[in-house]
Amino acid sequence: MHDDLTQCPECDLLQRIPVLPPGGSSVCARCACVLHRDRPDSLNRTLALTIAGLALFAIANGFPFLSFSMQGQVTQTTLFTGVLELYGQGQWQIAAVVAFTSILAPGLQLTLLLAVLIPLYARRLPSWLPSLFRYVRNLTPWGMMDVFMLGILVSVVKLSEMATILAGPSLFAFGVLIFVLAGAQAALDPDLVWSRVRRGTRAGVPLRPQDSIGCEVCELVVARRPAPAPGAGLRPHCPRCAALLRYRKPASLERTWALVLAAVICYLPANLLPIMTVTSLGRVRSDTILSGVGYLLTHGMWPLAAIVFVASVFVPLLKLLILVYLLISVEVRSSWRPRERTRLYRITETIGRWSMVDVFVVSILVALVRLGNLASVTAQTGAIFFCAVVVLTMLAAMSFDPRLIWDRLGPDLEERALQQGRDHVRDRERGDPGARGADGPSAALARTG
Ligand SMILES: [Zn+2]
Ligand SMILES: [Zn+2]
Repeated sequence: MHDDLTQCPECDLLQRIPVLPPGGSSVCARCACVLHRDRPDSLNRTLALTIAGLALFAIANGFPFLSFSMQGQVTQTTLFTGVLELYGQGQWQIAAVVAFTSILAPGLQLTLLLAVLIPLYARRLPSWLPSLFRYVRNLTPWGMMDVFMLGILVSVVKLSEMATILAGPSLFAFGVLIFVLAGAQAALDPDLVWSRVRRGTRAGVPLRPQDSIGCEVCELVVARRPAPAPGAGLRPHCPRCAALLRYRKPASLERTWALVLAAVICYLPANLLPIMTVTSLGRVRSDTILSGVGYLLTHGMWPLAAIVFVASVFVPLLKLLILVYLLISVEVRSSWRPRERTRLYRITETIGRWSMVDVFVVSILVALVRLGNLASVTAQTGAIFFCAVVVLTMLAAMSFDPRLIWDRLGPDLEERALQQGRDHVRDRERGDPGARGADGPSAALARTG
């Protein structure tokens, strides 16, 4: 069960959520983003997968991960070794990012999720539950175990000529954990959690979008200027999840411009400076991002070379170009193809994290290759700039508010976009077009399967 009113988080259209068939989803009638999904047996499945995930997480962090053997000398690593080695080499910035994205964020996400699911399972509702679930949602984009796995693959290929790499029990647990974590995220129905939190009141919600705010976290539709609750301070907070209610993300354009410019400045040194130095049998070689791709290419690993090139060079550049285009289009109040521009924004949000793969490769190599003059890897300044590009572009995408794209449209264009959205979904999914009342909110579109 979920509340029947929702305000699209990407285009701000106020809509009624239709009753969904099992496994069906509803999409925004205007910008075609997915609003809700029906996830059968969500609580039981998420709980089971979360418990399994925590057990695997403990194994992945407590046992040897990979070992590196060269001319009779062996180094053994755990997941945390890369972080320690980077810190020891004075690269604390990369160490912090790697520790957060590969260990801390996934671990916290699983622990907090369990802390939310157990009371729900026991049909209790402690007062801290909504805030905790808010943190779970905020942590999700920063957990990058899947990207780390790709980093392992690249590292093993890079080292295969130089030495023998052996997998420890941790690696197998880590591999399964990625699927379990993805499964838990797919099974989790945020509405299930929010609908149990009864502090929200939906009485007296106005039906015009300009009079209401959709909570960015729990998607409750609230009247635009509610009287501040006692003790809540002057700024209005969501009555259900206690998140700050914002009509639009504050100073969205200014913040996004600043972050994009900072990322552009870091992009050049990130690609020109070496990201690591490899010493092998007395020979020293410096690797930039591109020479790393070249190495894979000359050793016949062209599929992996293509993946690393796309993730490390192409994706950050594409993301920056898209963000600059979106910013300019909003600044000049463009009304051109708002639905496609919203979709572009959605792409930048999803693909950015994969650029982190080269940062992970550096941390894995630094951890594995620690045999002094015989063989060693040190992280270099380029890696810090590269890491900064990835984090800055992710923050830039998060601070951009796609609703600004739609704010600039007049009523005629809005109606046209709405009709296009209906046509689009009907063509693709053959779902029922929602009926739009004369003065009420339009209905979101239902999709089966
Ligand atoms: Zn929308
Ligand atoms: Zn809320």
